[in-house]
Amino acid sequence: MRFSRYFLYTLKENPKEAETVSHRLMLRACMIKKLASGIYSYLPLGYRVIKKIENIIREELDKEGCIELLMPAVQPAELWQESGRWDYYGKELLRFKDRKNGDFCLGPTHEEVITDIVRKELRSYKQLPLNLYQIQSKFRDEIRPRYGLMRGREFIMKDAYSFDVDDESCDKSYWQMYDAYTRIFKRCGLKFRAVEADSGAIGGNYTHEFHVLAETGEDTVLSCNNCSYTANIEKAECLKPEKVNDNIEMKPLEKVETPNKKSVEEVSEFLGVKPSDLVKTMIFKLEDGSAIAVLVRGDYEVNEVKVKNHLGVAILELADEETIENVTGGPSGFSGPIGLKIPVYADYSVLNMNNFVVGANEKDMHFINVNLGRDFEVKEFADLRLAVEGETCPRCKKGTYEQFKGIEVGQVFKLGTKYSKAMNCTFLDENGKERYAVMGCYGIGVGRTAAAAIEQNHDENGIIWPVNIAPFQVILLNLEVKDKEFTEKIDKLYQNLLEEGFEVLYDDRDVRPGFKFKDADLIGIPVQIIAGKKTMAEGLLELKVRRTGERIKVKPEELIEKTR
Ligand code: ATP
Ligand code: MG
Ligand code: MG
Ligand code: MG
Repeated sequence: MRFSRYFLYTLKENPKEAETVSHRLMLRACMIKKLASGIYSYLPLGYRVIKKIENIIREELDKEGCIELLMPAVQPAELWQESGRWDYYGKELLRFKDRKNGDFCLGPTHEEVITDIVRKELRSYKQLPLNLYQIQSKFRDEIRPRYGLMRGREFIMKDAYSFDVDDESCDKSYWQMYDAYTRIFKRCGLKFRAVEADSGAIGGNYTHEFHVLAETGEDTVLSCNNCSYTANIEKAECLKPEKVNDNIEMKPLEKVETPNKKSVEEVSEFLGVKPSDLVKTMIFKLEDGSAIAVLVRGDYEVNEVKVKNHLGVAILELADEETIENVTGGPSGFSGPIGLKIPVYADYSVLNMNNFVVGANEKDMHFINVNLGRDFEVKEFADLRLAVEGETCPRCKKGTYEQFKGIEVGQVFKLGTKYSKAMNCTFLDENGKERYAVMGCYGIGVGRTAAAAIEQNHDENGIIWPVNIAPFQVILLNLEVKDKEFTEKIDKLYQNLLEEGFEVLYDDRDVRPGFKFKDADLIGIPVQIIAGKKTMAEGLLELKVRRTGERIKVKPEELIEKTR
């Protein structure tokens, strides 16, 4: 590709709106262009990287016998009502009506659609196992879209869905995908960890997230330095203390005026937090009966006082058993785990804390300075403690936890029969007995993976692409475009490189050399071939390795070999 004919216009300055390295560099390298909040076009250079990652994913999944298809982005509400997620999913689900007043949404994930497709064809155990995947744009109306492709509203995801005859076979599919993911992220040149994660309220099943290690990661990962047990802090096990404070004296409280809210969506809307900030449903017993409370984190406002990063308890209602059942079911509609990120729960001393806010995010609907243990009888508390860095690993009891920041680039999830039961996706087993397919789902954020790669591979001059996902393998800099004879030689060289199968960006622009060097470093192509008059006069070319800055002089006839 000739740079002069390409659609690539770099930015010298850091764009103000970009807070992270990857966002800044993607904008400066003309990889993406914002259309609306969290919605980006992939410009030619950026799209080449996306396609590289997609192809690595395709190759590795195809090796495991996964089969590619493509489903619609627009999905009818009926399917989501069937699975029960229409009410659960909350505001991340972008809903709209068609001209006939039918309800639709833009797919944030495709469990419903794939289950619908498969149930219509699945008859016999002989058709299983089956793993179908697609690479497609998803839409999630994220509350805080940010960091460019890292947390967009429209973003490209690879999503795969496995169907198996039983649990054991599903486990096999799960671990195959786990291995495929490991190969994919390795091939992308990333430093990453597979971590055990919280399966949220989906229950009973398990899940791993794949995290690219980077300071700017939004997740915290704990890893034992002895036995290699690694988990998202939301899930990391910790040693249980000898005794939980279960003998708490109750102090009478005035009755709280509580609103009658139930669904996760309503609750989160009421509290002004996103559904995933409803950290954990707990049941607290008030003096005058049971009440449901959820733990919320984040920034919110209490009594006109803004609370930052606070952990609070919100009472939803004084409720009967049935309601409690419903609410404690939790937001199982979320495909990712719910977060518990505040280290307040580092130990049981929370029982003696005095600065809890209890109630709702509305004036006169709460108590402040509540002491949990004193003012409430707390059930289900023991599992709420968060593990912390430096504490003893509960698995091997020898090592200690080390802490990392991670970017979640992928997740594998054993779903079990949640969707096949809700949507009646069955088959006949060997004995002619009807059974539910056992499912798994597996996602990779393609754009986020590209962004994470930049977070991990850059310097002050720009991006340093891992070779396998670089937009081009080689950039050829012609420093003397005005010299016809010279340029003819370099044009030939360019042709040679193409014929040898290299992906070459040929900087044939009529601009100063300094400008070309800066751009070459910024866009981060692994190998730079610098064709200048001086070296050419010696019959040589200069080759610069972007990552190390190492420069070597080579003879033109050695170029191909040295570039490889
Ligand atoms: P997060 O915890 O970051 O919100 P998630 O757990 O909700 O992600 P999944 O439902 O597990 O996401 O989706 C699979 C993958 O899709 C994620 O591992 C991530 O790489 C990617 N992804 C999810 N949300 C976004 C987003 N808003 N922008 C870009 N990529 C995303
Ligand atoms: Mg996830
Ligand atoms: Mg997540
Ligand atoms: Mg999410």
